[in-house]
Parts: sequence; C-alpha cells; structure tokens
Amino acid sequence: MLILRLVAAGVLVYAGLRLRKYLLRRNSSAPQAPATPGAKTAPVEDILMEDPICQRLVPKKQAITVRDTDGLHHFCSEDCRNIFLHQREKST
Ligand SMILES: [Zn+2]
Repeated sequence: MLILRLVAAGVLVYAGLRLRKYLLRRNSSAPQAPATPGAKTAPVEDILMEDPICQRLVPKKQAITVRDTDGLHHFCSEDCRNIFLHQREKST
C-alpha cells in the first residue's frame, strides 16, 4: 500500500511540474517576437560616400547619384550634382 501511495505522489508531482512548465512556456512566448540580437541589424547599405564637390560624407542610401563612364558618383544635394555635371560639361 505504501508503494502505491509513493507512486501516486510521484505521478502527482510529475503532472504538477509538467503543468507548471506548460503554463510558464505559454506565458513567456506570448505575442512578442523572439529577440535575436545581431541577426538583421547589419546596415550594409549605410556606407558613407564622399561627395566629390564639397567632400562631405553622405550615407549611400540618401545620396543623389550620377552614373557616367567613370562609374557612380554620390552627392549630398542636387546643387552638388549640378555643379558636378556643369564641370563635366565644361571639361569635355
Ligand atoms: Zn555636396
């Protein structure tokens, strides 16, 4: 009879632990997304490019670009781009 009691107690404890685990898991993984630091945070496109007119550093994404035979040029503003195009027109 003692053994039966011990087994019953063990089953109860086991069931209780399982229930606790289940409830804890349900609470912790509610609506928030899993935090994965450093997974998608590499801003590869945010390279600084030097404006050839004013020598200012411009984030590549925001730069105004002109493609010509020398490649792609990056400018901080339309003004710099216009100056660049103007200078090219003169030199050629
Ligand atoms: Zn500029």
